[in-house]
Amino acid sequence: MLKSFFFSLCFILASHISFSQDQVLNIVVFGAHPDDCDIDAGGTAILYSKMGHKVKFVSLTNGDAGHFEKGGGALAKIRMAEAQEAAKRFGVTYKVLDNHDGELMPTLENRLKVIREIRTWNADLVIAPRPNDYHPDHRYTGILVQDAAYMVIVPNVAADTPPLKKNPVFVYSHDNFQRPNKFRPDIAINIDSVFQQKIYALSAHESQFFEWLPWTSGNLDKVPKKDEDRMNWLSNWRSAPLDKATKESLVKWYGDKAQSIKKAEGFEICEYGKQPTDEEIKILFPMIGKD
Ligand SMILES: [Zn+2]
Repeated sequence: MLKSFFFSLCFILASHISFSQDQVLNIVVFGAHPDDCDIDAGGTAILYSKMGHKVKFVSLTNGDAGHFEKGGGALAKIRMAEAQEAAKRFGVTYKVLDNHDGELMPTLENRLKVIREIRTWNADLVIAPRPNDYHPDHRYTGILVQDAAYMVIVPNVAADTPPLKKNPVFVYSHDNFQRPNKFRPDIAINIDSVFQQKIYALSAHESQFFEWLPWTSGNLDKVPKKDEDRMNWLSNWRSAPLDKATKESLVKWYGDKAQSIKKAEGFEICEYGKQPTDEEIKILFPMIGKD
């Protein structure tokens, strides 16, 4: 009687919690351009990598448009090389899909590509932007990943790639857009210990952070020439103070230690994938409470 009760309890717990504490986690981060995944989740990715988990960044476009002097295939090659260098510095795998920059559309073809990327990585967690954004490529990346949520478990969709047995948890990466609703950081990850490594990895995208992005904001003449000065300049640029909602989330996950945290990455749980409990979130984000 007691034994059967024990087995029933185990069954209930096993069906409730589908992640185990000692498993290697598989995480996929989607971005529109080679540098987006890095900005959105780079610090968290480094922490996963250091703990032995597997992270893949997927850029849905090849970045062949975002520059004032270079473009086309030549720029796509530069962006690919920069992404692969960044991958080494983050400790991740970096895949760049050959879609034109500035022309990404939420087509069935692209949806199936996203589904296959999630399936082949056997993802436990998928990170992507929200579909509220000034840039159409960012917006459609959000739509495409939302459209893949649930479909990743449907065998007859993208039938050439075996479906996942369970729907992953999908989370949105942080943004500052206010409409139709603000980003809600359900989870916030302390990246203080790896922030400088994140900056070093971001700096691999030279044509982005030291050329294109400063050009778009009229700051190209302010970019330092020396490597060390560039690193400090990029570090200052990426050092916005934490907002109130992120600070509150840090208190939830880190308790008293939250007051001293300076750098964090926030994530909002998407309604369309698996809905994790707080216990499952701690298993999916095992760096919480480990530093
Ligand atoms: Zn982008």
